[in-house]
Amino acid sequence: MKAARIIEHQKPLSIGEVPDPTPGPKDVIVRVEACGICRSDWHAWMGDWDWIGLSPQLPIVPGHEFGGVVEVVGAEVKNFRPGDRVTAPFHEGC
Ligand SMILES: [Zn+2]
Repeated sequence: MKAARIIEHQKPLSIGEVPDPTPGPKDVIVRVEACGICRSDWHAWMGDWDWIGLSPQLPIVPGHEFGGVVEVVGAEVKNFRPGDRVTAPFHEGC
């Protein structure tokens, strides 16, 4: 699949192919149709999360505010099925 990644802080994103995810038994795979980029992503790009005690390892795929369609569900997933339109809860700061 194609992804935009932060591979170096404060440099242009790298857009390219990354491995397709494999769902675990309780996971779903979502085909992202739209995605916001927020200040949390900007902090990840800046590499300045030290002030909240985080230092995420690069590369990072930014964009935790998304909507899309479920493509695959894991064997134990009961509440979603392929074709469902979904989003995910954001963290409290967003
Ligand atoms: Zn956010």
